[in-house]
Amino acid sequence: MRSALVVPAAGRGDRLGASRPKALVPLAGEPLLVHALRRAAASGVLDVVVVVAPAGACEEVRDVLAGLPLPDLRVVPGGAERQDSVRLGVAALPDDVDVVLVHDAARCLAPPALFELVVRTVRAGHPAVVPVLPVSDTVKRVAGDVVVETVDRSELVAVQTPQGFACAPLRAAHAAAGAATPATDDAGMLEALGHPVRTVPGDDRAFKVTRPLDLLLAGALLAAAAP
Ligand code: C5P
Repeated sequence: MRSALVVPAAGRGDRLGASRPKALVPLAGEPLLVHALRRAAASGVLDVVVVVAPAGACEEVRDVLAGLPLPDLRVVPGGAERQDSVRLGVAALPDDVDVVLVHDAARCLAPPALFELVVRTVRAGHPAVVPVLPVSDTVKRVAGDVVVETVDRSELVAVQTPQGFACAPLRAAHAAAGAATPATDDAGMLEALGHPVRTVPGDDRAFKVTRPLDLLLAGALLAAAAP
């Protein structure tokens, strides 16, 4: 059986203020997607890669990925919400895949070791695995501009990708999910079906490029050769 990676890369990137789809925004001369997949490929644990591309950009995505060592690459067009894009990516997986990682193209500096850790933890018998980091800010619940309560941060974690899954429950979760409230992560969909979700230590470098400041940070990390 094979391990696969599904990369939702069809977001518009409005918060980044870019004129391009976010996954194709350049960082040190290469699209975010190329940085993300170079690190995924370097993990050595992924046999199949499905990239979910912005509508109308499948050919461009194939072109920018041509130089990477991705043995079985499939590119499919995405949907309106992240959940739709992941569902379309999962639907493009071959039948001999038993472990699936889902990884945001926007988390372009997630290191190879994180992909390896997540695959290893799924293969150790955990059907859903998420990398997490402690929350460093104080977190409050608000109603409009009024604070309702301060949440106990010692019980909270911030969740990253790559998230890892046994293929069958991931397919089932996407089949069962309604469109009414799209999930912001895939593990949440398995949680909703009662599957246990296991955490592993996340990595600071797996932050999501969302706003212009994130792009500056990613550029600085690359310049320092940290990733
Ligand atoms: O918008 P957000 O930053 O949460 O997106 C996370 C990831 O999901 C990004 O890699 C983005 O390209 C992808 N996405 C997608 N299809 C959408 C929206 C987001 O593939 N419709």
